[in-house]
Parts: sequence; structure tokens; C-alpha cells
Amino acid sequence: SDVLVLSALEKRYNRGKPNEIVVLQNLSLRIPKGQVTALVAPSGAGKSTLLHIAGLLDTPDSGTVELEGTDLSGARDGVRTAARREKLGFVYQFHHLLPEFSATENIVLPQLANGVARKAAEARAADLLGRVGLTSRAAHRPSALSGGEQQRVAFCRALANGPSLLLADEPTGNLDPTTSDTVFDVLMELVRETGLSALIATHNLALAAKMDRVLRLDAGGLTEE
Ligand code: ADP
Ligand code: ADP
Repeated sequence: SDVLVLSALEKRYNRGKPNEIVVLQNLSLRIPKGQVTALVAPSGAGKSTLLHIAGLLDTPDSGTVELEGTDLSGARDGVRTAARREKLGFVYQFHHLLPEFSATENIVLPQLANGVARKAAEARAADLLGRVGLTSRAAHRPSALSGGEQQRVAFCRALANGPSLLLADEPTGNLDPTTSDTVFDVLMELVRETGLSALIATHNLALAAKMDRVLRLDAGGLTEE
């Protein structure tokens, strides 16, 4: 079965104006359960637009966005927000951790917001931090962690509520090449161990090659490599 099905998406900006631009046109994409898909795109091709639509942060002009069989493209904001919180995990180029909280608290807080009891949330945070090799850094604030460690905590936070799909935009793009490779391998291990499905945008073709499938986005269309 498919976790995410995007069908015939169209997205324009400045609709009806002289500077109207068609970013996505008749774009379709399926992510089967457990599959890790790489998204490679030149700058300006619409990668952010596509990730925002898949992440229920933006809506297409037409087409559908099905998450685990439910079309959410036209759903109310509250429904989309709930689905985003329960079913999606996000990782960006920058970690966006809360600076005044420890690594553990950064992973606990989204679970509390999702109704998980504190004890259970702390146990899950400890388990996730252990999986990425950061048990000894659990009590540190982000400023006391290296870039690679910060990003590993961000991966744990993205998985905190057990999402069905991970959406990542250049998850190691802010790290030096050696750290990037190591931290990316940690992410892939975490994704594989948890059986997570993922759509991971990257400019790094060597990293893309480690995924199950590579899709290239350009001029509004997707092609498989
Ligand atoms: P990418 O992430 O691949 O660089 P984006 O999805 O950010 O591409 O943008 C695709 C195109 O749409 C670019 O030409 C960009 O300038 C344009 N664009 C993005 N967001 C907006 C917006 N809010 N209003 C107008 N044009 C936009
Ligand atoms: P990058 O690190 O790739 O430059 P960011 O991490 O700043 O990008 O975020 C990517 C985009 O997703 C931004 O446009 C940001 O506003 C948006 N975004 C991230 N998280 C949320 C959220 N929880 N709700 C709404 N928009 C979000």
C-alpha cells in the first residue's frame, strides 16, 4: 500500500497576473510503505513547493494529496494540522531545535503536545537518542552540541510521534562533507530500523544513490533515474 499519493498536482504563483508562473504541472508521485525516495532538483525547480504540498503546509491549485488513503488536499486547516502532527515528520537543513531545552526535552515536547504521558515520552526520547548514538548528550542544550549532533537530535524529534512518512529537505546540507556522510548514514539506519517511508530532497547524488529510488524534478515534471 502507498503512504503518500500525489495525483495530477498543479501549482501556480501569481495566478492571473502578468508574472504568473506554473511551478508544478500534472505531477504525480507514489510513495509505497517502507520506501525511501530521493528527490533531486535544480534550484528553482519547485522542490520546496512540492515538499510543502506533500507536508500539508501548502495546497495545490488542483490535484489530490492522499496520506494513507485519505485525500487531504481540500481538508480544513484543523484536519490538515492534525494529520501533519500525527502522520508526518519533518527535517530541514537547519535543526530548528528549541535553544533553551535539552536534547531530551526537544524530543519529549512534541510528544506531550500529541497527548503522550511524560514518562512514556521520556522513554521514547532515550530510545531514539540511543539509536543515533547520543545517550551521553541527552541533557545538553543544542548550543553545546556539534552540528552533526544537533541534526541527529532533529532526526529523533522528527520521529518522536511515530510518523508514517518522513519529509526531509537537505537534511545534511548544512554540514561539512565528512560529517554529512556519517550523519546521513545514521538517518538511513534510523529510517530502516523503524520501517519508515521517506521523501528526502538532496543535491548530493552519492547520498541519493543510497536510497531506494531517485526522482528528478525539473520544469514541473518528475522523472525516475
Ligand atoms: P526550489 O525549492 O526548487 O528552489 P521553489 O518551490 O521554492 O523551488 O520555487 C519554484 C519557483 O516558484 C521559483 O521560480 C520561485 O521563485 C517561485 N516561487 C516560490 N514561492 C513563490 C511565491 N510564494 N510567490 C511567487 N513565486 C514563488
Ligand atoms: P531550510 O532549512 O530548507 O531553509 P526551513 O527549515 O526554514 O527551510 O523551513 C522550510 C519551510 O517550511 C519554510 O518555508 C518554513 O516556513 C516552513 N515550515 C517549517 N516548519 C513549519 C511548520 N511547522 N508550519 C508551517 N511552516 C513550516
